Amino acid sequence: MKILFLSSEIAPYSKTGGLGDVTHALPAALGALGHAVRVVTPLYREVPREGLRRGARLTLEFPFGAVEVTAWHRAPSGGVELVFLEAPTCFERERPYGYPDDARRFATFSMGALACAQHDAFDAEVVHANDWQTGLSMPALTLGFAHTPLGRARRVFTVHNLAYQGNFARAEVQALGLPWSLFVPQGVEFYEHLSFMKAGLVYAQAVTTVSPTYAREIHAKAGGAGMDGVVRAIAGKLTGVLNGVDTAEWNPATDVLLPARFSAQDPSGRARCQAELLARYGLEAPAKGMPVFGTVGRMVHQKGADLLQAALPRFLEQGARMVVLGTGEPALEQAWRSLAARFPGRLGVRVGFDDATAHLVEAGSDFFVMPSRFEPCGLNQLYSQLYGAVPIVHRVGGLRDTVVDLAEAEPTGVVFERPTTEALTAALTRAVELLRDPGRYGPVQRRGMTRDFSWGPSARAYLALYGEVPANPSAS
Ligand code: ADP
Repeated sequence: MKILFLSSEIAPYSKTGGLGDVTHALPAALGALGHAVRVVTPLYREVPREGLRRGARLTLEFPFGAVEVTAWHRAPSGGVELVFLEAPTCFERERPYGYPDDARRFATFSMGALACAQHDAFDAEVVHANDWQTGLSMPALTLGFAHTPLGRARRVFTVHNLAYQGNFARAEVQALGLPWSLFVPQGVEFYEHLSFMKAGLVYAQAVTTVSPTYAREIHAKAGGAGMDGVVRAIAGKLTGVLNGVDTAEWNPATDVLLPARFSAQDPSGRARCQAELLARYGLEAPAKGMPVFGTVGRMVHQKGADLLQAALPRFLEQGARMVVLGTGEPALEQAWRSLAARFPGRLGVRVGFDDATAHLVEAGSDFFVMPSRFEPCGLNQLYSQLYGAVPIVHRVGGLRDTVVDLAEAEPTGVVFERPTTEALTAALTRAVELLRDPGRYGPVQRRGMTRDFSWGPSARAYLALYGEVPANPSAS
C-alpha cells in the first residue's frame, strides 16, 4: 500500500511527546512490512538541513495571503520517505505550537503536504493524519482534491490526545478559505469556533486513538475533554490501537545512551545506571530498603505532578530518592524546584528536554511513577517496563491496558484506582514493600523486561484498518 502519513512531530528531529515517537516508529514498521510510506512533517528551525534534497516548491494561495512551501526529501530508507515541509514564516520559530497564527501555520502544513504529494504524483491509497495539526487534511481531500487521484485516498485520522483540539476563532474559516457550508455543528464548528480536531474526527473515514481503554473513555463526559458528544456521534468508526515501542531506540541491551547495558537475563548493569543517575542529579544513595523513584514527562495537570508533589515528602523523609525530568507549565516547574530545595540530596529535578537523561531515568530508577489523570496511551510506562523501572500508574487509558497490578496474575507494576494523593501514597507504600521483598520485586521487574511491546502487531492492526475502509470513488 502507498501511505501518506502527516504529523507535526517526528523524533529525533522534533518531539514534544509521544506523537514524535509514534511518527518515527509506526511508518518504519509499516515500511518493514513492505509498504511505501511518505511521512510529511514541518521543517522546524532546529532540523538539520544536511542531506536533504529539494523537491516541489509551490505557492499556496489562502485568503489571508500566499505562502511559499518547499518540500525537502530525505533519501528513502526501509520503505519510508521523510519529507520536511519548509515554510519559513510558519515553522522557523522558538517552539512548535502555541502561536496566535497556529490555524494558518497548520492549515499551511496540511494543505502543503497534500499539494506536494499531488505535485509529485504520490497517489496515496491512504492518507493517515495525526492530531489537530493535520485535521484539516481530512475535509480538504473531499474538497479541493476531490477530483484528483489523491482524492481517492482512504482517510484515516489518529487522535493522540483529545485534550489538544486546535480550536480557533470563526474568522479563520474565511481567512483559510474554507467553505461556510463546513461551519456547522455536524462539520468543523465547535461552540462557534473552528475546530481542527473536529475536522479530523468528522471527515475521516476511520478514526483511531492510541489505546482501547482511551477509545472507550472519550465517549464519556469525564474523559471526552468537551468533545465526548462528537466522539459519540462518530463512535461507529472509532477504534483503539495501542502504541508500540521503537526497540531500536529503547532497548537496554543496546542503548548507547546508558553507562552500562543490561537485560532481563543479566540486569547487573542497572546498578551502574542507578549510580550514574544519582550522581547526575547530585543525590545520595537511598536509605537501606528505600527506592529510587523516577519520572519523566510534560509538567502539565494531565500528568498529575501535583499529586506526586503532595505524596512524595513522607517517602523522601524515610530515605527514598526521586529524580524528575520534564518541562511544562511554569507553576508546576516552580513547585518541583521548591520541593527540591526542601530536600537537597534526596530529590533531584531537571527542568528541560533531555533524551539521554530520559533513558537514564528509565535505566536507573527502581520505580517509574506516572500518576496521570488521563493518558491516551503513554509510552514511558512501556519503556520503564522494558528497562526494569517497575511502573506505578493510575488505572486509566493506556496505562490500564499495559500495566498489570501486583494483585493480579503475572504482575508488572503497581496500579492505583483514583487520581488522588491518598491513592498515590498507598501505591508508593506498596512499591516500597515490594522492593523490600526481593523474592517478589525481581520477578515483577523481570516480567516487565521481557514483555513484547514491539510495533509489529500495531502496524498490522493499522494495515487491517486501512484495508477495511472503503476506497473512494474514482476521480472524475
Ligand atoms: P505525552 O505524549 O503525553 O507527552 P508519552 O508518555 O506518550 O506522553 O510520551 C512522552 C515521550 O516524550 C516519551 O518518549 C518521553 O520519554 C518523552 N519526554 C517527555 N518529556 C521529556 C523530557 N523532558 N526530556 C526527554 N524526553 C521527554
